[in-house]
Amino acid sequence: MIVDEVQELIGHTPMFQFDATRFGGQKGSTIYAKLEYLNPGGSVKDRLGQHLLTNALQRGEINTATTIIEPTAGNTGIGIALAGVKEGIKTLFVVPEKFSLEKQQLMKALGAEIVHTPTAKGISGAINKAKQLATEIPNSYLPLQFENAENPKAYYNTLGPEIFNELSGQITSFVAGIGSGGTFAGVTAYLREQKPTIRAIGVEPEGSILNGGAAHGHEIEGIGVEFIPTFFENISIDNIYTIRDEEGFYFARLLAQNFGLLVGSSSGAAFAAAIKESQFLPENSTIVTIFPDSGERYLSKNIYG
Ligand code: PMP
Repeated sequence: MIVDEVQELIGHTPMFQFDATRFGGQKGSTIYAKLEYLNPGGSVKDRLGQHLLTNALQRGEINTATTIIEPTAGNTGIGIALAGVKEGIKTLFVVPEKFSLEKQQLMKALGAEIVHTPTAKGISGAINKAKQLATEIPNSYLPLQFENAENPKAYYNTLGPEIFNELSGQITSFVAGIGSGGTFAGVTAYLREQKPTIRAIGVEPEGSILNGGAAHGHEIEGIGVEFIPTFFENISIDNIYTIRDEEGFYFARLLAQNFGLLVGSSSGAAFAAAIKESQFLPENSTIVTIFPDSGERYLSKNIYG
């Protein structure tokens, strides 16, 4: 494959197949994981960055004099920065302090500027700060992944069809981590349109509120919510698995050391939930999940032992 734009390398990621019975799944059940960490920016969010910028450009909402401002745990920032390089657009990201140093270094390596907010203020603190900066910086534009209906659309348009076609529609459950909720909402909407019986299973860390627990800090990065994402209004969720930090790290290590898949802890959590789902479903079920990002961006967090 010969390309002359990095954007051509986004998407069409490989699918990895696991025999779920090795992990206590029912007889004949299989788990597939879409290896989104193999996107050029190292995460599923390359799709979003590209979609958001292309869309805003087409609508005339941004141009080369614009500064994009976005609150992010890091991967959305990297995805938007990657798209910004191509379009020659400046990017500024508001990141709560706790998120990994590597993700911040990657955003900077792609030419972005970073503003920190206190960890204790959570992602809501970063959202508020981004909104304030947008009032101060002339010609700025806030994509706001947590509110923007284009977020799920990015996945509805590309990731959903890829998953459905690669598995020829043979899917019992779709399992995905929920951060902004864009991946979950977009892919679920597409899959259910094709095959309404597909179960939609969310994954959150302990400390996220979807299963009714109290909001508190957690170490798994990229998933977990402090408020219910607006995209969930029209989507029925069949179940949500709440995964402890240690369990997410355990499976991230297992994926690295038993399969050579160097993925982050939200992939470990997604795999843990996919295994639980394979134990719950009848024999011969097919579960598909997403491995959203690369483990290289968490090496400083020492989660691989
Ligand atoms: N995993 C990781 C590592 C992420 O960075 C994100 C995005 N915050 C997600 C999962 C969840 O994706 P979404 O925002 O689409 O729910």
